Amino acid sequence: MLSIQGLSKRFGGVLAANSVNLRVEAGEILAVIGPNGAGKSTLLNLISGLLRPDEGRIEFLGEAITQAPPEARTWKGLGRAFQIVQPFPEMTVWENLLVGALYGKPNTPLKVAERVVEEVIQLTGLAPKAQTPAGELTLLEDKRLELARALCTRPKLLLLDEVMAGLRPSEALEAVELVRRIRDSGVTVLFIEHLMPVVRALADRVVVMDYGQVIAEGPYDLVATNPKVREAYLGRAS
Ligand code: ADP
Ligand code: MG
Repeated sequence: MLSIQGLSKRFGGVLAANSVNLRVEAGEILAVIGPNGAGKSTLLNLISGLLRPDEGRIEFLGEAITQAPPEARTWKGLGRAFQIVQPFPEMTVWENLLVGALYGKPNTPLKVAERVVEEVIQLTGLAPKAQTPAGELTLLEDKRLELARALCTRPKLLLLDEVMAGLRPSEALEAVELVRRIRDSGVTVLFIEHLMPVVRALADRVVVMDYGQVIAEGPYDLVATNPKVREAYLGRAS
């Protein structure tokens, strides 16, 4: 589904992505983890087109998208939920979702967009909030809206950046169920997450980043006991 080769991005003296190689297989749930500042959000920014790499190549569904503008990537089927949510606060939940559905694919008729919103609002449990202005939502609802809006663009690959940060354990469990349902509906998922129980519950495969590099990759249990990974998380603190 996605293939990344030799991807690098520098910010001044910081190599936020350092020769990253990564593959995402169709149908999988892939977790990207790593300490703060490891380069996880930068990687998503490079994949979604918010940033252009200094070096390297990104292929999505067999075609190079390295230089494609973000909207072209969205139209091809790359959906993105941001770590810092930015809904239109004065618009209702329904209207926010309609924006995603109308512009997520070019020339979407209003009737089609409304059908997409109806489906997504049911799936994500936001129906009771449909007429609430986004500015009045709780953090949990905000995160849901962010994810729902990305779903409204009808992605083949959904990129999630810490959509569960700040949630209580019971809420996180609900979110885990939601992501499973999304995958079961045919969407491949790449997610960044800090909560390890969530990573363990959801991920088919885990990629660990540190200082812009992929330092480990594999099933959760293998990665969690990898000395390099433990060092990345604990070494500096100790
Ligand atoms: P993570 O999401 O893993 O916490 P980021 O990708 O946000 O990490 O950041 C990786 C590194 O790149 C950090 O050192 C961060 O300060 C730096 N960085 C990220 N975005 C920018 C930017 N737009 N300008 C300058 N430095 C940035
Ligand atoms: Mg981040």
